[in-house]
Amino acid sequence: MDAAIRPHVVCVPIPAQGHINPMLKLAKLLHLSGFYVTFVHTQFNFDRLLKSRGLTSLKGLQNFRFDTISDGLPEGNQRGILDLPQLCTTIPVEGLCSFRKLIASLVSPNHDDVPPVTCIVSDAAMWFTSEVAQEFHIPHFVFFTPSACGMLGYINFEEIRKRGYFPLKDEKNLLDGYLDTEVDWIPAMKGARLKDLPTFLRTTNPSDVMFNYNIVKVNTAMHAKGVILNTFEDLESEVLDAIRAKYSNVYSIGPLSMLYKQLSNSNTQLESIDLNLWKEDSKCLEWLDKRDRGSVVYVNFGSLVIMTPKQLSEFAWGLVNSKYHFLWVIRPNLVHDNNNNGDEKLSDEYVNVIERCERGLVLGWCQQEKVLCHASIGGFLTHCGWNSTLESICEGVPMACWPFFAEQQTNSFYACNKWGIGMEIECDVKREQVEGLVRELMEGQKGKEMRDKAMEWKHKAEAATSIGGSSYNNYNSLLLQLKGQ
Ligand code: UDP
Repeated sequence: MDAAIRPHVVCVPIPAQGHINPMLKLAKLLHLSGFYVTFVHTQFNFDRLLKSRGLTSLKGLQNFRFDTISDGLPEGNQRGILDLPQLCTTIPVEGLCSFRKLIASLVSPNHDDVPPVTCIVSDAAMWFTSEVAQEFHIPHFVFFTPSACGMLGYINFEEIRKRGYFPLKDEKNLLDGYLDTEVDWIPAMKGARLKDLPTFLRTTNPSDVMFNYNIVKVNTAMHAKGVILNTFEDLESEVLDAIRAKYSNVYSIGPLSMLYKQLSNSNTQLESIDLNLWKEDSKCLEWLDKRDRGSVVYVNFGSLVIMTPKQLSEFAWGLVNSKYHFLWVIRPNLVHDNNNNGDEKLSDEYVNVIERCERGLVLGWCQQEKVLCHASIGGFLTHCGWNSTLESICEGVPMACWPFFAEQQTNSFYACNKWGIGMEIECDVKREQVEGLVRELMEGQKGKEMRDKAMEWKHKAEAATSIGGSSYNNYNSLLLQLKGQ
């Protein structure tokens, strides 16, 4: 199709790996469906992607280009550990200004091969883009990259405040059982407690940036032309009903990776676009080739979790003592020692432990989806980020869950209590519990049941994304709306 007559979508993720990945999948799908795509990075991430690849320009492909906006963070901010409250303070101001300039330039572009922008798909967390969409009369769609159950949690933040659960009365509430208060009045959350809701309510500060940011996020989405979710009807049907009671035009089109496989016919050009912020190590796939079927525990806590040296050490000992092979991704900035007790000494300790046991492979970043689909993987020790949870479901892999923050707690609650595919590790992690849970996951009766259940969900996900399935159909309806038909 000639570029000039293509609809032009501008995709805007918040600059975090767990948001960039699903937005990229959606952007690729839209490109396959005939859209011209502008994918927007923050300047910082764009430079980081170039640097890590030793490139001077980041190539898209024909009818797929990248552009940038500012995240507003001060010069010199390393962003190694993403400071979310700070980002959520600066990006709605600086990001808004630079996004306005970007859209102004794309409304009537100078180049013949760039068609005028026709719609914006923004991450729900980039809610301020809606202001620009309104100014330029461009339809605005919102993509909630986390789970539908996570979204439902955020939708209820206002009610949580009204009912007096937020802010906490006292810091002690974090430990005194207060968070065990049931929140059964939230539809589709039977059995859930305050501690299963997104963690941003756990503060005594009524003006907490993250709590209030998430309220603005869900409220802004109310005015969007459509709300897109990376989930599927069977998995979150009740939750989707509860969301649809408040929002119109909700499109559940996940798992996006499966839908992409269905529609792409292995389009190698598109597959060559990857936006990993860390350099991935592919030697682990050879290592996995040498292991028996279903014999390896895969351990990965995603892109944002920060743990203490003590927690890392408990996980290390628990894994070593379980006697299973394990593949563990320890991101360069995963461990942070508030007391500055020296990460170096610690890393020596666990590397020694792991090397001595000769069953563990540690690396800094991997191609997670390739790892999860490897036949040797038997279980996933995860923080329950939504992408990781869904990627695990897509491969029928059961999980040991150690949710860290945000809506990971909600995902873990659903995985363990509603979907039957997870077992939760206590926040105050102890090596004995890790050892026990890993054994149960890999060889116990509960582990077997969870594996069967995970396979069931995998098949349901495949059905949803196949021709005529719910996600497939929802995607086609979304396309019509995005094209303004
Ligand atoms: N990921 C990856 N390699 C790694 C760790 C993570 O490719 O070593 C990807 C993973 O497949 C997922 C994303 O990074 O798509 C992490 O998103 P998630 O929602 O699971 O967690 P977050 O990083 O947002 O906490």
